[in-house]
Amino acid sequence: MTQGDAKQALADAQACLDRGALAAGLAAADRAAVLATDNTTRAQAGWLQAQLTYRRGDYAGVLALADTLTPMLRAEGGDNLREFLRSVVFAGAEIGRFDLALPAAYEVHALAEATGRAGPRSQALNAFGICFERMGDPWQAERLLRDALSLARDGEVQRELLAALNNLCAVLIGAYYLQRGAEASPESLAALNRALPLAEEMVALLGAGGDPYMRAISEGNLGEILVHLGERERSQQLLQRTQEETTRLGFMPQRRRVICSLAEWELRHGTEARARDQLQALLAEVDAEGAALPPMTAVRAHHALYQAHKALGETAAALQHLETQAELLRERVVQQLRVQSEQFITRVEAEQSRREADRQRARAQSLEADARRDPLTGLGNRRAVDHQLSTLLSDAAAAGQPVTLAMLDLDRFKQINDRHGHLVGDRVLVTAAQLLRECVRHGDLVARIGGEEFLAVLPDADAARAREICERIRQRFVGHDWGALAPGLTVTLSAGLASTPPYDETALTTRADRALYRAKANGRDRVEAG
Ligand code: GH3
Ligand code: MG
Ligand code: MG
Repeated sequence: MTQGDAKQALADAQACLDRGALAAGLAAADRAAVLATDNTTRAQAGWLQAQLTYRRGDYAGVLALADTLTPMLRAEGGDNLREFLRSVVFAGAEIGRFDLALPAAYEVHALAEATGRAGPRSQALNAFGICFERMGDPWQAERLLRDALSLARDGEVQRELLAALNNLCAVLIGAYYLQRGAEASPESLAALNRALPLAEEMVALLGAGGDPYMRAISEGNLGEILVHLGERERSQQLLQRTQEETTRLGFMPQRRRVICSLAEWELRHGTEARARDQLQALLAEVDAEGAALPPMTAVRAHHALYQAHKALGETAAALQHLETQAELLRERVVQQLRVQSEQFITRVEAEQSRREADRQRARAQSLEADARRDPLTGLGNRRAVDHQLSTLLSDAAAAGQPVTLAMLDLDRFKQINDRHGHLVGDRVLVTAAQLLRECVRHGDLVARIGGEEFLAVLPDADAARAREICERIRQRFVGHDWGALAPGLTVTLSAGLASTPPYDETALTTRADRALYRAKANGRDRVEAG
C-alpha cells in the first residue's frame, strides 16, 4: 500500500461524486480513508465520505462522521470545513438533531464572516434559514434565505447561487404543504408562485450539463411546483426524467420526493389507483430498507394516499393514512416546540450563568476588599499596605518621584482608654482616621496598621513637603474639638518620617519607626524625620 494508492482512491471518489455515482464513490472514499498515511489525505477522504453520504440521504451517517472529521478539517483549514459543517447543519435539521445543527450553523457563520466573501456569507445564512424552517418558522426562514440569495448574486459563484435558489425554493414549497388544507389555499398558492421563478432560474442556470445532483434537485423542484400549479404536460415530463435520473444515480431523498410528486400528478389527473400503487411501493421500499422517509416527504405520501383511497372508495385505508398524516404533523409540531423551548432554555441558562459569574466576581472582589479594610475606621489595614506599597514604590522609582512614609501614633492612648473608657477610645480612633483622610490627597494610602498606629504613604512628597503635611496633621489634631467626644479629652499624635531614596520598603519602614520612637522620646506631639 502506498500513498499513491490513497491519492488514486481520492481521485476516483471525487470523479464519482462529480458524475453522481454515489455507491462507487463511497467505496473509493472508504478505500482512500483506509490507505491514507497522512492527515491531509485522511481529511480529504473523510470530506468525500461526508459529501457522498449526504447525497445518498444518509443524514444520520453524516452526523456520525462529525466527531472525528470536524477536528481533522479544523486542523487542515480551508473551505472543506465550512462545506462539511454545512452538511451537518442540513442533515441535522432534516432529522431534528438541532443540538448538532445549530452549533454547526454558528461555526459556519463565524468561518464565513472570517472570509469576508459574499458567497460564504450567503451559505451561512442559508444554513440558518434551513434551521429556522425546520424549527417551525418558515417566515423568518424565507427572510434569511432571501438575504442569502441576494448575497449569492453578489458573490457570482454559480454553486453558491444554486444553493441559495434551491434552499429558498424548498422552503417555499414546504410552506405550500403546510398552508394548504384539503384544497390549496390562496396563501399556499402564493408561496408556490414565489417559488416558481426561482426553480426556473435554477434549471436555466444549470442547462443540460453540469452537476447531475443539482440538476436532479432543480428539475424535481420545478416539476413539483408545476404539478401543484396544474401544468400537466411540463410537470410530467420533468418529473419522469428526474425519476429516471435519481433512480439511476441513487439520489434517494430526491427520488422519493419525485415519486410523491408523480403520485400527486396522478391524483390530480384522475388516475388515483396508479397514485396509490406508486406510493404503496414507495412505502414498501423504505420499509424493506428499515429506513424512514424524511418527515415532510412522509407527510406528503400519507396525504396523497389518503386522497387516493378516498377517491377509490377505500374508506378504512383512507382514514388510516389520514390518521398517520395527522400523527406525523403532530410529531413535527411537538418536535419543533421542544427545540424552541430548548433554545429558549439554553438562552435563559446562559444568561443565568453569566449573572451568577458576575455575582461571584463581585462577591470575590468585595471579600478581597473587606480583607484589606479595617472595620472600625474604614481605612486600609496592614494587608492593604502589603498589597500596595511595593508597587507604589517601584512605580515612583521608575518615574523618579519621591515618596515619604509617615508612621503616626496617638500619644498616651492607653491613658485615654483608662480615663474615658474603651468606647471613647474607639471613637477617638474613628475621628483620627477621618482627620488623617482629610489632611492627605484623595487616593493616598492611609492605613491603620496597629491599635493606635497609622501609616500614611505620601507619593510625590520629598522630606520637606512631607514634614509640612505631617505638621498640618499634628496641628489639626491639636486644634480639633475632642471635648465633644468626652469632657476634658485632648488627643495628640507623634509622627516619624522616612523619605526615598532608597525605594525599599523595609529600609523605609525601619527608618520611619526609629523616627517615631525619637518623636516619642523627645516629648510627643511632634514630627521627626529619619
Ligand atoms: P505612646 O504615647 O507611647 O504611644 O503611649 P500609648 O499609650 O499610646 O502606647 P501603648 O502602645 O502603650 O498603648 C496603646 C493602647 O491602645 C493599648 C491598647 O489598649 C489601646 N488600643 C489598641 N487597640 C485599640 C482599639 O481598637 N480600641 C481602643 N479603644 N483601644 C485600643
Ligand atoms: Mg500610642
Ligand atoms: Mg502604639
